[in-house]
Amino acid sequence: MLASGSYPNKESDMIDHRRLGRELELFVSDPLAGAGLPIWLPAGAAARHAVEEYVRELERRAGYRHVYSPPLGKRELFELSGHLGYFADDMFPPMRLSADDEFVLRPALCPHHALVFRARGRSYRELPLRVAELGGMYRAERSGVLGGLSRVRAISLNDAHNFCALEQVGDEVREILRLIGEAHAVLGVRPAGFRLSLRGPDQRYVGDDASWARAEEMLRAALDGVDVVEVPGEAAFYGPKIDIQIVDAAGRESTISTVQLDFDKPERFDLSYTGSDGRRKRPVMVHRSLVGSMERLFAYLIEVHEGAFPAWYAPVQLLLLPVDAAQADAAAGLARRAEAAGLRVEVDQAGSLGARIRDASRRRVPYTGVLGAREAAGGSLSLRLRDGRVLDPMPAAQALGLIGAVVASRSAGLLPPA
Ligand SMILES: [Zn+2]
Repeated sequence: MLASGSYPNKESDMIDHRRLGRELELFVSDPLAGAGLPIWLPAGAAARHAVEEYVRELERRAGYRHVYSPPLGKRELFELSGHLGYFADDMFPPMRLSADDEFVLRPALCPHHALVFRARGRSYRELPLRVAELGGMYRAERSGVLGGLSRVRAISLNDAHNFCALEQVGDEVREILRLIGEAHAVLGVRPAGFRLSLRGPDQRYVGDDASWARAEEMLRAALDGVDVVEVPGEAAFYGPKIDIQIVDAAGRESTISTVQLDFDKPERFDLSYTGSDGRRKRPVMVHRSLVGSMERLFAYLIEVHEGAFPAWYAPVQLLLLPVDAAQADAAAGLARRAEAAGLRVEVDQAGSLGARIRDASRRRVPYTGVLGAREAAGGSLSLRLRDGRVLDPMPAAQALGLIGAVVASRSAGLLPPA
């Protein structure tokens, strides 16, 4: 766990994700594209792609149904959702196409997901209905607060809306917290704390007192055994929420994962399902994000791993170094086999071997395979691990199998789990 300010200033400069992002060619912020609109370069995109695949797989196994919806929609959609009433200051101004056709860049995915629920009649047998999307949304952040990936204007959110009956909320929230814990462990996220945000005395809220009391009680019960700080007055206007906090290398705290109960949008969108007694009922909407936005997640992961990602989402997993030109063909052939086995591999043959080994280390490549005359002739490979360990030469197929096993297990270490 990182306490606020646990890094001295000098060190925090060294592990700033913006500097590492530049050095490792993960992303670029170009003033011509605009502040807060970073571009993911191939290395950063490869790492992000692996993480997105993992999150999708985790959600699919947990019964989520993935959808695609557009990042902009008609003005009326966001009037109905309440966003233009409550949230307009954080949104880009509407775009007028014609006198009666105005569009806005969405600040959240909930309105579209409410329309997924409403696409046809629903029965209690379908609940909880878990609608998930890694989707784009936009916030008109002031240019002064933008920096690297941690605060951006174009956000790719790991989002889902779980529509449940009120009596299902407790189990649903417990399962979401379990998934968050699993995702954090696999990615290397170390939460700094849990917050339970409740109603305060002087705020206006949607929904009746009895529902709120029950919702707060359900969240509290789901957090049983978790060290949590209760924060009255910090609830969303539509419901109480659990926020899971992280602290970056400079000591700044932000939310990475969230679970929010919402009684308001089901009302606004007139969502209903047919209960077991045949009567129409109103579902509760649970907004949840397991790992937050890809931007904020990677700002954090770059810093917490100091650029040395676990092998399963390292941009390049294996770098092959032929000692001289005579091993170039053998290296190219091995690279094709590694690619066919699903690994991300590169061959580096420019410059002295010592300089190439140093460059592999600078790039935090988890595995480097040196191919000399003996290895090329015998079909073997000696692997150097990123942490400095050198393994005895082994048949090339065994080396690829070793890396493949570590990647498939998504473990943090560089050797297969025992
Ligand atoms: Zn939402």
